Amino acid sequence: MIRIAIQKSGRLNEDSVKLLKECGIKFAGADRKLLSRAENFPIEILYLRDDDIPQYVFDGVADLGIVGQNVLVESEFSMNTLKKLGFSKCRLSLAIPKDVSYNKGNLKYFDGKRIATSYPKLTEKFLHAAGCSPKIEFLSGSVEIAPGIGLSDAICDLVSTGSTLISNGLKEVETVFDSQAVLIHAPGAISEDKKSIINDLIFRIESVQKGKDYKYILLNAPNEAIEEIKSLLPGMKSPTILPLAQSGWSSIHSVVLENDFWNVIDNVRKAGAQGILVVPIEKMIL
Ligand code: ATP
Ligand code: ZN
Repeated sequence: MIRIAIQKSGRLNEDSVKLLKECGIKFAGADRKLLSRAENFPIEILYLRDDDIPQYVFDGVADLGIVGQNVLVESEFSMNTLKKLGFSKCRLSLAIPKDVSYNKGNLKYFDGKRIATSYPKLTEKFLHAAGCSPKIEFLSGSVEIAPGIGLSDAICDLVSTGSTLISNGLKEVETVFDSQAVLIHAPGAISEDKKSIINDLIFRIESVQKGKDYKYILLNAPNEAIEEIKSLLPGMKSPTILPLAQSGWSSIHSVVLENDFWNVIDNVRKAGAQGILVVPIEKMIL
């Protein structure tokens, strides 16, 4: 049995639960209890505030945790990052009142300035490296209102779209740290039993992630175009080719990387493909 700590409620919660469910793990939600045991996988889910997750994992109360890199790095616990999870993407940015002029890269501007933030260590490290000594005002929330009420000259806060900054009369001027959710694990010895459960879980996470990176495509093509189309489809091994009822035509099936997707579609259409169907892949096991 292993235990994984995830956020009880907030921006990380929904995607963390979704990922575990996509891995085929069935469990009750956080509204029911603090700890819930999965029905069909040897794992317990521990629901915590995100700020507490690094500590619980470091202390061994949980074997694994899902947390933002911003919280992990700020906590300064030495931890193994097993996987980047690709969700809860955001950046820690410096922002100042929108009417103040600022030249990008001129970090000296922040020397001696009062900066409100919930991430004092990340902010200080970044500005110290640029030779500045700001005055950090620690706030655990609502950082964006600090300049407006005269508490600080600038803020260093998490941003995803930037709309919160704009509605508070601020502009984003420098990125301090790029973050996303990660799967963490404390360094140090663990039992063979736990290791094998963790490996199973990582295998499932990778299958879910690969499924998201690829699309399954099915298309019809005249037989004389098959060779060219085959060369345009990277696929896993080689594409599946099935004859159609209409003579002289075949159906070709393959997987295509999402990033390459429109390129591949344009090229196979030019090569004579018709009736192209694209379907999402739920999981991909190589
Ligand atoms: P908790 O009650 O668990 O302490 P919280 O209020 O500190 O929650 P949330 O706002 O739920 O935290 O954010 C959790 C994490 O989601 C952040 O630490 C960050 O990694 C990520 N995140 C993604 N986008 C944003 C954003 N636009 N603003 C804030 N956090 C974001
Ligand atoms: Zn928090």
